[in-house]
Amino acid sequence: MLRPKGNIHVPTHQKFCRILATLGPASDAEDRMLNLLEVGVNGFRINFSHGSDIEQKKRFETVRRAEARFGAPVPILADLQGPKIRIGQLKDGSQKLSFNQSVLLRCAVLSDRDGVLPIPHKELFAVLAPGDMIMLDDGMIRLRIEENDGETAKATVLVPGTLTDRKGINIPGRRLPISALTEKDRKDLDFALNEGADYIALSFVQCADDVREAKKLILGRAKLVAKIEKPAALDELDDIIALADMIMVARGDLGVELPLERVPVEQNRILRLARAAGKPVIVATQMLQSMVTSPIPTRAEASDIASAVYRGTDCVMLSAETAVGRHPETAVAIMSRIIAQVERDEFYWDEVHKQVGQPESVSAAAISVAARHTIDLLDCRGILACTKSGSTAIAMARERPHAPILAITPHKETARQLAMVWGVSPVVTDDFSTLEEVIERAPDLLKKYFSMQPGERAIITAGVPMMVSGTTNMMQILTLE
Ligand code: PGA
Ligand code: MN
Repeated sequence: MLRPKGNIHVPTHQKFCRILATLGPASDAEDRMLNLLEVGVNGFRINFSHGSDIEQKKRFETVRRAEARFGAPVPILADLQGPKIRIGQLKDGSQKLSFNQSVLLRCAVLSDRDGVLPIPHKELFAVLAPGDMIMLDDGMIRLRIEENDGETAKATVLVPGTLTDRKGINIPGRRLPISALTEKDRKDLDFALNEGADYIALSFVQCADDVREAKKLILGRAKLVAKIEKPAALDELDDIIALADMIMVARGDLGVELPLERVPVEQNRILRLARAAGKPVIVATQMLQSMVTSPIPTRAEASDIASAVYRGTDCVMLSAETAVGRHPETAVAIMSRIIAQVERDEFYWDEVHKQVGQPESVSAAAISVAARHTIDLLDCRGILACTKSGSTAIAMARERPHAPILAITPHKETARQLAMVWGVSPVVTDDFSTLEEVIERAPDLLKKYFSMQPGERAIITAGVPMMVSGTTNMMQILTLE
């Protein structure tokens, strides 16, 4: 079997921030996935913008086989393409656009004329107005709209380049009258739920209603990640965060839709709000972009990952680096090491503790706060949290306790979902029916999963009686024998 060469493996319980890796040709092989898990990946993203149903189905199956060999729950995040509008088919497949050239945008699937760009989205022509900027191919080419009659628009090329078929289109600042779920997304959503996706990521969310609509379709069968990549979403951030299970700072499209210099500011604002609301966050895109080709990252990339970690992100994501890059394992190993290094800095802990908002006035929050302080006071090395729905472990993680959380649950779905949450190592166990059973099993579990030693202390949290979900109301300090 392929083995990662020279990569140091940081065990799950030795790093708190999680890593999500996007699958693609560079990582689709089962051995490759296993290697990635061994160097620090906690979950895989399947991107529905690329690939046929047959390819996607194979990815789901391969992750499940790699998961079985790895021996720990591995979540799959199905990322729906969303209403990404794209250029249609150009004459000869490409068009050279020069500075100041006048072009026509036409509501059509294809064009057989030079200087006429087909865009098969009539919603777009309904809103385009003179002065609007059109960004093509992630902002590489830019046009300004001069006129629009509802079917054909005249535009001037401001940033020239060669445009090819099906490239993405962004219109910064325009709220398009389209739902975050296209017909393809609805089909992909059904497909992904049938294949057992643990998270569904909703792209180009514009408003809270987009999240509501998706939740109605998902019906609790998976957790929902709202991708923040449209300026409109920034205006409804509080509501979107309240409705979603997890938030993604999708910096790729965000950096095209917003002036680039606003991306770091918005990233920090999203992190602050999500942290205060107790919702897990993923920081995504271009984190180790140079490693698509280079075996070592830039110092700026190392710093970028570290700042997201210092800001308290739950999870960092790799896209092209693991999907099509030349060094997927090395990228993950380097990311793991950067995370582990930050988490060894005492200022990291000061910082993340400052970010914790006012706890909710509920018993699970009270227990989590008490557990966090007890861990510092008594130098506890682990937390064992009994959780059915996962909410107890998420509440615990929100406090950023300085000890890893072993979340024991009878449900494999809960376990997989929790694997993407800061500091949580989920394990599927028997459905313990009494607290005595949990206390009896705890030492073995903590020794097995966290390599804890006799004499070390841990904390157990649970809801008593055990049968009822969402009732965390007790904490016990345990010294291992
Ligand atoms: P994408 O989303 O990779 O699906 O475009 C992430 C982003 O836009 O950053
Ligand atoms: Mn995107």
